[in-house]
Amino acid sequence: MTPEIPATPSAIPTLAQTADALCELDRDADVETVTMSTGERVATFAAVVLPVVGLVAAMILAWGGGFRMIDLGLFLAFYLISGLGITIGYHRLFTHRSFEAPAWVRWMWAVAGSMAAEGSVIDWVGMHRCHHQHSDDHHDPHSPHQHGSGLKGLVRGFWHAHTGWMFKPDPVNLERYVVDFKDDKVVQAVSRQFGLWFLAGLIIPTVIGGLWDMSWKGALLGFLWGGAVRVLWVHHVTWSINSVCHIWGARPYKSHDESRNNVVMGVLAFGEGWHNNHHAFPASARHGLAWWQFDSSYLIIRLMEKLGMASKVRVPDAVRMQAKLRESSKA
Ligand SMILES: [Zn+2]
Ligand SMILES: [Zn+2]
Repeated sequence: MTPEIPATPSAIPTLAQTADALCELDRDADVETVTMSTGERVATFAAVVLPVVGLVAAMILAWGGGFRMIDLGLFLAFYLISGLGITIGYHRLFTHRSFEAPAWVRWMWAVAGSMAAEGSVIDWVGMHRCHHQHSDDHHDPHSPHQHGSGLKGLVRGFWHAHTGWMFKPDPVNLERYVVDFKDDKVVQAVSRQFGLWFLAGLIIPTVIGGLWDMSWKGALLGFLWGGAVRVLWVHHVTWSINSVCHIWGARPYKSHDESRNNVVMGVLAFGEGWHNNHHAFPASARHGLAWWQFDSSYLIIRLMEKLGMASKVRVPDAVRMQAKLRESSKA
């Protein structure tokens, strides 16, 4: 059944920004969508498909012996840079403001996140705040839970949450979610330069790969492993937070959605897989709330704090955590 669409979306509070406040916004607002232009569809298709082509090319070359340790190094280095750019930068710093940082640090993380080829920081933040406002209701841009029941509904929901949502119209007025960045010179500049930094994330490993043994083939291998295959990997790790972490895993905390803690994604996605914790405490810089929940992004944020690169790091206190535990999770 189609939900009622209000004539005018309810007023959204100025995002003076605690992410907790974001999750208290009116869940009935924001129901209209805008259609995608042909150019946007082509760009999205290319972003999804071309890295797969890159993986096939890399496999064919590797079959013939075309793989060096430097290629593994470039893959891992740019996985770390762009993946942490998303988790520490785009997500915990910019979307949820779970800590503060000087301008040069904010610039660095915004650039690193741009290299993940997941859109500009402003677009990403707008979409993700919309996800928190509507998580797993009809207006969530990427919920796996609105696609029918049974195995068919699960498969359709998984595909939509993982990749298909990017081909659907965006919620209208995503700008309302990012008004706090209107006068933010760092975020505005890096968002405008998104194409440049995305290309830098492909060109730098290409140049290093070529210089390594002064060959064009080396440059191609650097491009494939540090660029295309790495983008493919980071994309699917990020997308798994939307799909896997809203379907499979534990739900120790009360949250108004189907978010889950998934151990595998907790490790691969630098702590982001503790997604039920995150939906319960969105403003927390720490997603792995239990001692055993490895959260590499949080460890790096703590290190940044010691080095003067981060301040006002937010974590929930024990009383709040206990209050939000589901009955079944209490000892
Ligand atoms: Zn979520
Ligand atoms: Zn979030």
